Amino acid sequence: MDDLFVWGEIQELRKSINKHNELYYQKAQPVISDFEYDKLLKRLIELEEKFPQYKTDDSPTKDVGSDLLPQSKIISHKMRMYSLDNAYSFEEIQPFLAKLFKNTEIDIVAEQKIDGFSINLYYENGELLHATTRGDGYEGEIVTENILTIKSIPRKISIKEPIEIRGEVYLPKIEFDRLNKERETDGKKLFANPRNAAAGSIKLKDAEVVAARNLQAIFYSIGFSERKFTSENELLDFFEKQRFPTFKDYLHSKADSISEFMLDFSGYANNLENQKNELDYEIDGIVLKANNVIFQQEIGFTSKSPKWAIAYKFKAEEVETILLDVDFQVGRTGAITPVARLKPIHISGSMVSNATLHNEEQIERLDLRIGDTVKIIKSGEIIPKILAVNLAKREDSFPKVIFPKTCPICETALIKEEPGVITYCENLNCLAQIQRRIEHFCSREAVDIEGLGEALVKQLIEKKLVSKIEDIYHLDYAQIELFEKQGKKSVENLKNAIEISKKQKFHKILFGLGIRFVGAKIAKILASYFTSIEMMQKATLEELIEIEEIGEKIAQSVVNFFQEERNINTIKKLQEAGVNLVSEKNEIVNLFNGKKFLITGTLINYKRNEIKEKIESLGGKIISSVSKNLNYLLVGENPGSKVAKAKKIETIKIISESDFEELTNR
Ligand code: AMP
Ligand code: ZN
Repeated sequence: MDDLFVWGEIQELRKSINKHNELYYQKAQPVISDFEYDKLLKRLIELEEKFPQYKTDDSPTKDVGSDLLPQSKIISHKMRMYSLDNAYSFEEIQPFLAKLFKNTEIDIVAEQKIDGFSINLYYENGELLHATTRGDGYEGEIVTENILTIKSIPRKISIKEPIEIRGEVYLPKIEFDRLNKERETDGKKLFANPRNAAAGSIKLKDAEVVAARNLQAIFYSIGFSERKFTSENELLDFFEKQRFPTFKDYLHSKADSISEFMLDFSGYANNLENQKNELDYEIDGIVLKANNVIFQQEIGFTSKSPKWAIAYKFKAEEVETILLDVDFQVGRTGAITPVARLKPIHISGSMVSNATLHNEEQIERLDLRIGDTVKIIKSGEIIPKILAVNLAKREDSFPKVIFPKTCPICETALIKEEPGVITYCENLNCLAQIQRRIEHFCSREAVDIEGLGEALVKQLIEKKLVSKIEDIYHLDYAQIELFEKQGKKSVENLKNAIEISKKQKFHKILFGLGIRFVGAKIAKILASYFTSIEMMQKATLEELIEIEEIGEKIAQSVVNFFQEERNINTIKKLQEAGVNLVSEKNEIVNLFNGKKFLITGTLINYKRNEIKEKIESLGGKIISSVSKNLNYLLVGENPGSKVAKAKKIETIKIISESDFEELTNR
């Protein structure tokens, strides 16, 4: 394979995996299934193995996805928290076993894989001191108060030595249904599945709200411990004795051959798969662990997961329901997305009423008719997919789903660039697009104007007070005060938020402009490279392509954007309104000149995202683990195991927060 090609694919994969990590771990809103995610990761591992020259320390293959939010209070784990390798079939388990048990008897414990949120409890002198999330695997967010709402978690245990107890927090299925019903009556957004609901609950600020959710937990492993255990089943016994909720019907299998074990295992697995809907919590597979702890220690870990364990994941569930209608939504760029409206149905533990239909070709391939009985599949993603139509249940009277020829909002003729590709409404004044563009500009990831949400934007557009991004900075506040539900106070707040937004960081404003293919990360790269919108406007296609991570597609889109009269006008108007269109502190941008930083522990003067942004704005790069490529380890309070690791590598400078301040204040 062509080297350049490989590097391109590796970058694409890393970008996409990082994005999905963030959606899954931080936002608890995954958009692809575990299966699809694992496919991306497997491909990346494969390429990095084949082309080791492209291995870098910041690759997502090196770390577990992080659930740490910028403002979180964090503390280091005494021992790292890992992820698990996955297998999707019985066949995939066998090489794992063959590698593990070359000359020894097979001795495996298999237990349910709970689809919840990992948690770490730390006990000292028999008392629960704190509870943390997995975080980035090295350090987790402190969520003790919320965890204490779970009554079944022992506050005291009878052993005095420090110990980390690990397990999974989950929301029972009935609680999930109850919670969603409640949210529906309150007009709140529904949780897609119990896992997301649990993940969201754990991080709530108000423990009383958490208490009302009735979370539960189950424990199955330990991290740091002075007390030694000899086997997994001894550990499970220990949990039982200390009154931790734990697994009772796990499989403990000793076998002389793989086939003998598989006989045992398949019995257990089939049984569990048949009965999983009767459990009061969600499981998404079975975890197989080598039982003997000494043996585990000999085998060790990869950079992400134990080599002595694997998760066997169940196949995604498929159900049938009825297609009620298909809506055609218009996005910010004018792209038309068909959405199938379904008769609500329970699948993989949640109620669904929508499915994605990617484009016109998919609708044609399925030959969809309204009223059809369709087979849908859901494997962890929020929105399920339509797999096929059950033709036996089709009636002649069912009308064919027709992809519109004109925009459902503005009636402009739709344009499709090539078959199989997305259809666009190219009317830049299309009200749907205007709405989405302005919403995008105001969103948290962009300029961040609190209070300017969907409903108000809609009103402003209807009343003809805004039609372009720049209009936000010339609002007629007296008019808005006359709107329904807009008190003086909220208009005052809006005014302030808009004023503050002018000073937003350049890269966020750039992202807000909604240039096609310029996502948040690309906007950051462009902003730090060009440092001002004027410089960027002057850039040629060639110059843009030269920038790391900017491909031809993005480059062309940027060039096109700046050629359009109305965009030039928008920029001029934004500048006139005093909106920031330059990177901060241009002159010292290159203080760190690409030097690599890693942060451990809690800093006093910076939140996580602030320190990262500061380092990056000074030309430094953040990487995610200690290695010889690291230049600076910045150590805060309660640092983790990274310090000891860094001390072993002479070239790493270990600095405190005040050393860092000194470095940057020169
Ligand atoms: P993943 O979320 O794909 O990284 O899968 C690994 C996670 O599965 C672990 O971090 C645990 O939170 C979770 N898990 C659920 N049940 C178990 C179990 N029985 N043994 C080990 N891990 C489990
Ligand atoms: Zn339109």
